[in-house]
Amino acid sequence: MEPIILNSLPAEIDRQSLFDSLRLKPGRPVPPELDRLTADAQRLGRPKAVYLLAGILSKTDNGVLVEGGPDGEVAFESHILRLNLEPAHRLFPYLVTAGVELDDWARSDPDPLIRFYADQIQEQALHSAVHALADHVAAAYQIGPLSRMNPGSLADWPLTQQRPLFSLFGEAAAAIGVQLQPSLLMTPTKTVSGILFESETSFASCQLCPRPNCPNRRAPYDPDLYEQRYA
Ligand code: SF4
Repeated sequence: MEPIILNSLPAEIDRQSLFDSLRLKPGRPVPPELDRLTADAQRLGRPKAVYLLAGILSKTDNGVLVEGGPDGEVAFESHILRLNLEPAHRLFPYLVTAGVELDDWARSDPDPLIRFYADQIQEQALHSAVHALADHVAAAYQIGPLSRMNPGSLADWPLTQQRPLFSLFGEAAAAIGVQLQPSLLMTPTKTVSGILFESETSFASCQLCPRPNCPNRRAPYDPDLYEQRYA
């Protein structure tokens, strides 16, 4: 299936999540710049996504072969991903970006504090765009709960797997302004890559990641989960 581009995802900023990310305690005064910056971001922001439906051609001990890419098939190598995809016959590789518009905007102010606020606002816009993509896929394909995995979030599915992932998108990545750098990181920096997949048992990489105080944690660390589900 050809990549599908979503060019106008909402740049929604969840006020409470923003306050949490800035560690603003309840009852403390809100910095006066925040409302102006939030309004600017919502006016200027154009988060975007590209995704495709990819059938799973085969499963190996430690990975899956999916259809797509210049050679017609792409290998993802990850023990955890393989087991998460046990019941699946398809997946949805994706890129979501807060967009070059917000990236330029967030860098434009000479004041480092304003740039920090703008960076956190961008992060919120990216989160809302990721949720909007998942809602879009769930509605378009009438499927139930979706989980996601991101290359580089766990040692088991390292950042080098960005290469096969990006090979599925071809020119569509550049069409939404996203580039994979030689370091395997992406620009704009507020961009995420990964796969969505149907799963009755919800999964988030954070469940297997012990990193303390991660500002982007989506689920609590479960020290027993690997042994229970993946050993
Ligand atoms: S806790 Fe943070 S570093 Fe660990 S997987 Fe989640 S987002 Fe990534």
